[in-house]
This record gives sequence, structure tokens and C-alpha cells, in this order.
Amino acid sequence: MAADLKRRSINSPIPNRFSLPRRLGKLSDLAYNLWWTWNIDAEHLFRSIDPHTWEDTNHNPVVFLRKVPRQCLNAALHNSHFLNTYDHVIDAFKAYMAGAQNTWYARQYPERINQPIAYFSSEFGLHQTLPIYAGGLGILSGDHLKEASDLGLPLVAVGFLYTQGYFIQRITEDGWQESLYANLSFNDLPVIPILDNNGDALTINVMIAGREVYARLWKVQVGRVMLVLLDTNVPKNQPSDRELSARLYTSDLEMRISQEIILGIGGVQALRMLGFNPAVWHMNEGHSAFLVLERARELVQAGNSFEEAANEVRASTIFTTHTPVLAGNDEFPLLLIDKYFSNYWPRLNLDRDSFLDLARHKQPWGETFAMSILALHMSGRANGVSELHGQVARKMWSFLWPNTPVEDIPITHITNGVHTSTWIARRMENLYYHYLGPDWLEHLDNPEIWEAIEKIPYAELWSIRRHLKRRLVHYIRERARKQWLNNRIRSIQVIASGVLLDPYALTIGFARRFATYKRANLILRDPERLLRLLNRPGMPVQIIFAGKAHPADEPGKRLIQEVYRQIKRSDNGGRLVFLEDYDMNLARYLLQGVDVWLNTPQRPNEASGTSGMKAALNGVLNCSVLDGWWREGYNGHNGWAIGEDRDYDDPATQDAADAESLYQLLEKQIIPLYYDRSTENLPIKWLAREKESIRTLAPRFSLRRMLKEYIGEMYIPAHSESELL
Ligand SMILES: *Cc1c(COP(=O)(O)O)cnc(C)c1O
Repeated sequence: MAADLKRRSINSPIPNRFSLPRRLGKLSDLAYNLWWTWNIDAEHLFRSIDPHTWEDTNHNPVVFLRKVPRQCLNAALHNSHFLNTYDHVIDAFKAYMAGAQNTWYARQYPERINQPIAYFSSEFGLHQTLPIYAGGLGILSGDHLKEASDLGLPLVAVGFLYTQGYFIQRITEDGWQESLYANLSFNDLPVIPILDNNGDALTINVMIAGREVYARLWKVQVGRVMLVLLDTNVPKNQPSDRELSARLYTSDLEMRISQEIILGIGGVQALRMLGFNPAVWHMNEGHSAFLVLERARELVQAGNSFEEAANEVRASTIFTTHTPVLAGNDEFPLLLIDKYFSNYWPRLNLDRDSFLDLARHKQPWGETFAMSILALHMSGRANGVSELHGQVARKMWSFLWPNTPVEDIPITHITNGVHTSTWIARRMENLYYHYLGPDWLEHLDNPEIWEAIEKIPYAELWSIRRHLKRRLVHYIRERARKQWLNNRIRSIQVIASGVLLDPYALTIGFARRFATYKRANLILRDPERLLRLLNRPGMPVQIIFAGKAHPADEPGKRLIQEVYRQIKRSDNGGRLVFLEDYDMNLARYLLQGVDVWLNTPQRPNEASGTSGMKAALNGVLNCSVLDGWWREGYNGHNGWAIGEDRDYDDPATQDAADAESLYQLLEKQIIPLYYDRSTENLPIKWLAREKESIRTLAPRFSLRRMLKEYIGEMYIPAHSESELL
């Protein structure tokens, strides 16, 4: 089926909220396009008007432009250096937005540039001020949109504008995680209402268990890419339905199935209403899988049999799975499917049994309707997110293809990557400009340009790395000071929040969601041995932890408590630290500022992991279990591998072996290498390893490499196959 981009013009003017001098009027366009978040000069432009307000608003230009004192704007107006930068940034932004015809994608696939690709995800991590993400899945989605914009891919994305966002984390004196929810003020976010021709909010509506539920549409502009966000908090809805899009990943199954109906079925409607007719549909994880039903329904309603409809849907649908544990995949009891879909399957010309067959999961204790199975059955192309995860996924889902050998199960892999400009420190970016060449960002996925890393003088690299660590330590101390001033924490917590950190000590970072399989406590397994490590004379070591547990994840919260209690022990001298409220901003400071990025998942549960890729880009060395991406990235010289390239049957044996391996690495390799200094006090061998890490990892684990693989192996074949139908 041919698809085209002839769509209604979308009525979505940028809200006029600021009173800016006319000369600086374009700042409001910048504030409402997240392009500024990955263009350092643009960020710098906001900051340079008034650094204080910029920090106070947590780098939120929408609030910043409202709050910035008039005299700061006036001063900027009379500062010719500022005005030059302003003109330069605005010109670059305009050229970028107008340049869709001159992108990589437009050159490679000129015949495809008007054929949109729809991308669905339940979370998007684009910036800390838009807290509609929980962890790595959301960051990956956010990075995907940014790179799609850079490459010129005609992508349109669909997700939720959660009214409360993800929670704010507080840690009590006893280490217990408290979750605070506050309603977000959409006026403070870079979200733009989509309106109908009368200027009223545009809404879609879906039938959910016999009642109509409405969702209004918002737009977030991510460079050239539009992200459409659904929001059920509209007056027309019953009070309980207004809450449906309040939070991410509720554990209430009825709410969850309703959310997923809105995302999948409502999301298709939203795109239709906006005039999109996507040629390819990409489901990032199974939460949006109901979209295949809605598309099949459209085709059946247009006169096709269900089989014909299903074939067409399959040809044009891509499914990326991220969950290597069966129990972690979304599924619903059949009771709920009867309640929510008995009016729906007749519209597909299906009876109950054949409908359930689309997603039936037979378990020892009964049957469920599994979103990943629905997605696998209805997608022509499916992939895991690392080589090892591809293997695990093929094995895990092999029961769906009983006559197919495991290696032929139709699930491939595309290893994740990270969006370079989003995660790189300004100084590292400048270093690469200098040594890789002024157009390095254009070619960042080409390993050859990274050979020039060799030319960087050790002293120069070292001075940047030291700067980034000082910056981190300073930031942490400021946070602790504010918490103390606001009477939020007790004295013992002040030390646990990092005021005694030493900007010259070897610093290890561990930050990610506190899911138990990630084993944040592995390094704490032998507390006495760890203490000896931290306090070797002349070789101090410190470890910074951060991360949230899902509010309903009791074992995850107990893990935080266990870690926190050890951190509070006074005999570690302030060298163990836990930072509250991990988000993209804190992530950036940590990933750029530490020396070693530690990851200790229980293999093979880490489908990919991405934070280590962000760290590597900044010259930080990874020390990680050979799971997910690191099994592909590690080459023996560019970081360290905990344990061996093997699986264990017994988790206790695995924990013991991995902990022993980690301690040995620290004792015999990592710490001595860091403190092995030349006469100029440079850790030459350490820095050589950093160069090896950057050279081998930065191009390969970039989102650019990843997205080009999705385009070449998934999107374009799906385009071609659908055209043949
Ligand atoms: C990158 C990132 C993650 C994902 O980290 P993993 O190592 O893949 O677990 C989670 N949260 C934030 C804020 C991130 O920036």
C-alpha cells in the first residue's frame, strides 16, 4: 500500500508566553524545540543570559524565559558577543529545520522521504525537564528520535504525556525510598497543544470496556521529528479515566490494559486524525502492541479478510523486544481480555478463540494474553537489542515456532546505541573537533575517523578528565548543601550524599534503575574487603551509587536500603555515596565525571544496557559483566570484564564468582593502574586504555550506527515488502 505524507496541516502554534525583546524573539522557537538539548551552543546561549536562573530552573528554557530578569535580557541585548552567538545559533537552527531535503536519508532513499515511519513507545527520555521516562527503554526511544531527526528520517512518534511524570525519589535516614508525585504543569514544559480548527484541544476517543475514553493530543518537537503525546486528563472523561495517563507503569492491571488500549488503538487514531498514513510501524517493546489490532480492524472494515489484513500489517510492522525474562513481559488474564475486547474481535471477523490465539500464552497455571506474543505474531520483523539478547530471545520464544530450530526463530538483533551529541561533555566534544576534524559529528559512526584519537596528547586528555571529575564533585557538594539548607536530610545523610568526596581519588560510578538483577550490592558483598580497597594508603577509591526502584518493586527498594545502610557506616570515611533522584541530568554529570563505570547485572538479564556506552564516549572506562552490549564491546584492552563469557545454572554460584572476579580486578588491575604515574604524574597506561575505549566503542555504540541498521535491515525491507502486496 502506498503511503504518503499529504496530511492536514497540524494546528499547533507555539504558545506565546514570553515577553522578549524583539531582537531576541526567536528564543521562544528554540525553547519549544528540543533541538537545543543536543546542540551545546544553543544550551550555552540560554545559560549565558543568566547562569543563575538557568540552574534554578533545572535547564528548562520554557520556565527560564518566563523568569529571567529583564535586566539580564537587556544586558544581552547590548552584548555584541552574545548577539553574534545568538545569530549564529538561530541561523544554524533555521538551516537544520529547513534542511530535510539535504540529509543522509534524503540522499540514500530519496524515493522514501515522504513515507513516514511511526514509532511507538510507552516512554521517551528526551530531557530531564520532561519526566516521561523511567529508565533505559525511554532513553533509547528519546535518542532514537533525536538521531532520526539528524539523519532526516521521516519519523513520527507516539507516546504518553503522563500528568505526574515519573516520581521524585527521596531516601529516608534509614535508606527507605519514598516516592513523591506532583502534577506536572504543562505550561512549564516544551509541549504544545494540538488544536482543531476552532482552536479547541484535538481529542481522540476509544471504547474501553463499554465506555468512551477521550485523550487530547500534545506535540513535542524533537528537531525535525514530531512526537505526539496522549493525555486522558480531559474534563469529558470520568474522574478515574482522567487518571489513566497519570503515571508510568502502574501495577493495576485494569489501568494498565486501559493505558495500552489508549496507546495502541488511540495512537493509531491520533496519527490518522493528524493525516499520517505511515508506511512502516515500529513498536518499541510490547506495550503498544494493540496497534496491530487497530490497523487490522481498519483493513477488515475496508473489505479485507482478517488473513489479508494480518499479512499487510505483518509486512509493515517491526517489533523490538527488550525483556529477556518471560515474567517481565506484559500479559493480561483472559478475564480482562473478555471484558475489554469482546466487542472488538467481531470487528476483526474473529471469534473469541482465534482472537486469543493471536497472543495466547499457555502457562502451567492457566492461559494469559501476552503483549509480546501478539507483537511477535503480527510483526514481520522482530529484534532483540544485543547479540546475546537475540540468542536469549530466540530461545525464550522458540515455543511459538515448535517446528523451527532455535537458530532460525525469526528474531534478529540490532545492538543499541546512544545519541552522541546528547551524552557527550562539552570539553570532550571540543577535543574531538580538534583532533578528529571539524566534521567529525557528520561521520561519527565511521570507525576510521576515530583512529585520530591516538594523536591526543595524554596531558590534554588527562586535564579534561580531571576537570570533569571536579565538576561532578562540585555539583554533588552543591546538591548536598541545598538538601541540608532545606532541612531535608540528617547529618549522617550529609556524608552519604557526597560532601566528603575527593576530586582526585579514583571514582567508580554505579547508577541505573534498582532492579534486583542489576545487583547494585555485588561490590558490597564482602564489606571488609571493600573497606580495605577504599582505604589503601595513597590509593583512595570512592564509589557513587544512584538509581530509583519502581515504587511497587519491594525487593528493589530493599536493595536500595541494603546499599544505603552500608554507605552510612562511618568507617568508610565518606567514600561511599548514594545520590537521590537519578535522572538524565545527574546521569550526565556521573557518566562524564567518574573514572570507572561499573555494571554488574546477572547475566543474561541485561538485554543491552546503554549507560556504559555514554560513559565510554566521554573517556570513562567500563568494568562490567560480559552481558548485553559489553559482551560485544569488550576487546581485552578497552576496559575490564567481570567473570567469563558463560552462563551459570545457579545464581548463588554466579554471584560468588562475579564478586570474586570484581574484587580481583579492582585489587590487581584497576586501582594499581590508575595510580601508576609517570614523572609528570600522568597515568599513561590508564589514559592509553581510555583512548582504546573511545576509539573502539564510540563509533560502534552510537545511535547513528544503530539507526542505520534499523533503516537498512528493518524499515527499508518493510517498505519494499508492503509495496509488493
Ligand atoms: C542511560 C540511562 C539509563 C539506562 O542505563 P542502563 O545502564 O542501561 O541501565 C537509565 N536511566 C538514565 C537516567 C539514563 O541516562
